[in-house]
Amino acid sequence: MSSPDTPPVFQRCVSPRCGATLPMEDTSFRCPTCGGLMDVAYDWNRLPTPKHLSEFEAKWSRRTTPVDFSGVWRFRELLPFAQTSQILTIGEGQTILQKADVLAQKLGMRPDSLHLQYEGMNPSGSFKDNGMTAAFTHARITGARRAACASTGNTSASLASYCSATGLMRGIVFIGSGKISYGKLAQALDHHALTMQIAGDFDDAMARVQQVARRLGVYLVNSINPFRLEGQKTIMLRVLEALAWEPPDWIIVPGGNLGNSSAFGKAYMELKDLGLVKRIPRLAVINAAGARTFDTLVNEKNIRWNQGNPDSAAIDTFFKDLDAHDGRANTIASAIEINRPVNLVKALRAIEVMNGIVRRADDQEIMDAKALIGAHGLGCEPASAASLAGLIQLREQRIIAPSDRVVCILTAHQMKDPTATVAYHSADQEQFQKVLGVRGVKRASHANRAVQVPNDLEAICGAIELYA
Ligand SMILES: *Cc1c(COP(=O)(O)O)cnc(C)c1O
Ligand SMILES: [Zn+2]
Repeated sequence: MSSPDTPPVFQRCVSPRCGATLPMEDTSFRCPTCGGLMDVAYDWNRLPTPKHLSEFEAKWSRRTTPVDFSGVWRFRELLPFAQTSQILTIGEGQTILQKADVLAQKLGMRPDSLHLQYEGMNPSGSFKDNGMTAAFTHARITGARRAACASTGNTSASLASYCSATGLMRGIVFIGSGKISYGKLAQALDHHALTMQIAGDFDDAMARVQQVARRLGVYLVNSINPFRLEGQKTIMLRVLEALAWEPPDWIIVPGGNLGNSSAFGKAYMELKDLGLVKRIPRLAVINAAGARTFDTLVNEKNIRWNQGNPDSAAIDTFFKDLDAHDGRANTIASAIEINRPVNLVKALRAIEVMNGIVRRADDQEIMDAKALIGAHGLGCEPASAASLAGLIQLREQRIIAPSDRVVCILTAHQMKDPTATVAYHSADQEQFQKVLGVRGVKRASHANRAVQVPNDLEAICGAIELYA
């Protein structure tokens, strides 16, 4: 691989047994030999890499330069597939690691032990922007004019936002019908993406967009695109940066298409290989109970990375059974309502690299966890709260100790899905039933009900004295 005539950046099949390569510029995002997933691969010996992660701090003094300001591209030496002049950034990655001591105390954890990595601060309100800036940059390098994705909402919002802010590409978004939250649909429409509402669910839309991308030569920005995952690696770098480069004990992340989980695993695999970290945190991936493919495969079918040879017959059987029973995903956490995670095999590798575990949380646990997050800080959408729901389980199971240093990834902004939040806090039983009851949510354990008062000063003051 280090022959001087092969470029230092290329794509390589995720399966070490296959190892087929493609040029950096290829946009098929499928192994030509075995059909598997591709990685962006680097010949690090021929690329300038930092000796210590703290070298990245120097970028802060140059933050009037957009590529140094970006929370993704200020780490560009660790995703070195683009020239600086090719990078497309809209200022993504200005996110914060929020210390959550009051919440920690509630969970019986020590002060300083729990942090929430708030990715809702991104320009389009979700972590997807970390990946989109990288995919978009690759798209520009390949000369793409149109970019498409299938989405439960946040990928489409992000794509639409990059298209409108840069004016460089036409965005086409495929969404399942009836599922998408208003906050996310609003973003796709407002940013003038061509919005295709397919009569089907996310898994249907995902299958179609891949066919369309092949037929029409449209650039695909779903997380099957390995360049997106390069951008998402930087979530781990910003977490490390915020912890003064000392890795935490645990990273907890919701699992949908398993792009984040995969990216986190790759980030740590590379950091370790480059000698930039001594220790790797453990990873906990949390499925929704109504979309629990990864949980089932890992915990019930015992599927493992197995040095790049996961039991593909068992995986195929699982998906055949799923089809036979018309196993549609069903959860209030729409961003992880996915039964066919495209990054499954990479996520198995992440579990291996990060000594990871998988859990599932039902919609009751997810909504209660979401309310706890909202009551103790920045708030998030339902899918993001799977991370805290997972932490609560892992504390109960004594897998996570009170002094363990834990980072829960809050994947998106509170305002993405206000319908679920308002229904949860509502005293209106009909609304609660319509939005949450149908998902099996029975109670709102942390509800904050609006107080109904007559339009009368005495009554208003009386109520305030009573409740506050
Ligand atoms: C996309 C998304 C997820 C799922 O992430 P994957 O990388 O697909 O596992 C979780 N939460 C939110 C808010 C998302 O938008
Ligand atoms: Zn292959």
